[in-house]
Parts: sequence; structure tokens; C-alpha cells
Amino acid sequence: MTKTIPGSDIDFDRNGKQVGFYRLPYSGHDDAWGVLPIPLAVIKNGTGPTILLQGGNHGDEYEGPITLGEIIRELDPATVSGRLIIAPAINLPAVNDGLRVSPIDGLNFNRTFPGDPKGSTTLQLSAFVHDVLFPMADIFVDLHSGGSSLSIVPSAIIEPSDNAELAGRIRKAVGAFGAPMSVVISNRGDTRTSTAAAVQAGLVTVGTEMGGCGTVSPKALDVCRRGVGNLLHHFGIVESSAAQASGEPEHLHELGPAAHILSEDTGVFEPCHLLGDSLRAGDVAGRVHCLSDPRRPPVDLISSADGVLYGLRHPGQVRPGNCCAVIASPCSPS
Ligand code: CA
Repeated sequence: MTKTIPGSDIDFDRNGKQVGFYRLPYSGHDDAWGVLPIPLAVIKNGTGPTILLQGGNHGDEYEGPITLGEIIRELDPATVSGRLIIAPAINLPAVNDGLRVSPIDGLNFNRTFPGDPKGSTTLQLSAFVHDVLFPMADIFVDLHSGGSSLSIVPSAIIEPSDNAELAGRIRKAVGAFGAPMSVVISNRGDTRTSTAAAVQAGLVTVGTEMGGCGTVSPKALDVCRRGVGNLLHHFGIVESSAAQASGEPEHLHELGPAAHILSEDTGVFEPCHLLGDSLRAGDVAGRVHCLSDPRRPPVDLISSADGVLYGLRHPGQVRPGNCCAVIASPCSPS
């Protein structure tokens, strides 16, 4: 049996390791009949579930793509029971430029699902993931970090689901990842993210937020490597004596309606606490200073929630509406 797709030489049903590309036609100013070669790997052996591992959703988040590159180079197919489909740099134009959004059409890939095969480049990419890759997969892992504008506590992310059975399997998988924190994030209820679309498609879905600031954090990279290994073990795809965590996540947190602390002013953001510190509602999370008018006192940014300082804005300069701090509040499994 063979399973091939237009634009790729990979046979998704063949045993062994194949590393190649999905070639998305792209006719830009400097290349009339060219393609975007999106890296794609399949590692398959024996019987077992299919796990789709995605990195480079945002092009300035690096722990995921590095981890997936290591798996592509190092994992011996003989040790696999099932199939890994790995897209380590799915949003290639953004990855190549180290940008959150695509330099081609300005879109945020993670706000374009389910995509459109007749739309702009980013919409074609999300349609490829949604229409071609999701139907082949049982499990979806989307490896994010904080990116250029945020530093975030390394954590595994639960995308909410109305399906109680699926929600339970997602919670167990996130627990198995074994990150220092597990956080329920609905992205303000946005259904256009890849994880929301994957849950909608019935896939057991695990997200992450690793370090951030558009840099590589050795500590977060370690969490990411170990977490992906733990997941492969959890689903029985790779036997591992190194797997460390399983079961329900400890100390579950969520981003509630008051989680995001936004600036209402133009100025420079001063964080008043360190990432990971505990805050109470009413605490001053940070201040915004107006450098051009020293007569004006700084504006306090007050936390409206009890919890852990989960994310902090990285660039000092802020404008009205910028997210400066994020509070993750303790919650119980639902
Ligand atoms: Ca991200």
C-alpha cells in the first residue's frame, strides 16, 4: 500500500525514515514557477498511532523546531511502533525570516485555520495541515515558545474541548509531557488556531509554550526535548526508560478572562516581578513610564487575578493594547 500526496515524494505508508519536502507552488516577484520547500519527515514502523509533530508555526519560536530536527536526524525507525509525521518548520517563510507572521502575506498562520487551498500562501499552508495532515494523524503536537514579544514559563498547553472523553485524553497527554506547568489556554476563545482546529477534528492535542524573547533557552529546550520524548513513550510509539511523567498534570493553571494585563498608554514597560512569581489581584504587576515627559508619574498595571506571573512582555516600548503581563490562575480539572 502506498499513500502519496501532490507536491511530495514521501510515501506516508512506507516503513523506515523518509526526510523530504512538501513543495507548495509559489510564484513570487523573483521566481515565477518556484515552490516553497516545506521540510517534512515520516518515520514509520510496525503498528501504532500516528503522531503529527509541528514546529515553526510562528517563525521566531525555536525550541520546537530544534527538538524536531534532532528527532528527524537521530530516531532509529526500528525503535518505532506507529508513525511520526514531522513538520519542523511548517511556516517556512516566517521561519526563514525569524518572524511571527508570514513575510509573504502578513498573516499569522495560527489564526488562519482551517485555511483555504485557494487563498494566500499562509491560508494554503494551514489548509495543507488541516485537510492533508490532520486526517492521517491521531495525535497533534504544536510546539510554541513565547516569540519575540513575550517570555513565558516553560509549559504544556491544554486546548479546551467540549468532548469530555477527548478532554480527558488530552489532559493525560499534557500530564505525560511533564512540563513544570500545565496551562489551559483558549487563546481568548479563538477557533482559528491549529490546536483548536485539531481538537475540533478529534485529535488528541498537546500544545507548548517554551521560553521566548526570540531566543533559545537551554532550560526550555531541555523541557521540550524531554517532553516530546515523554509523549512518544506515553502513546507507545517509542519505548523509553527515560520517560519521567505520566497521568494527570499537577498544579493545573488556566488563563482566565482577567489573565492578560494590557497597557493603555504609550511608554516603556517596567516589570515589577520576575517570571514565575506569585501575584494577588490588586498587586502592581508593572508600570508604564512616559520617558518624554518626566512630570508624568508612571501608570501602574494592576493584576485582576490571583496566580503565577506566566508571561512577560520582552520589548520595553509599549503602545495602548500591548500585552505586558499574563497571569495563570490555579484551576481544577473540568
Ligand atoms: Ca506562538
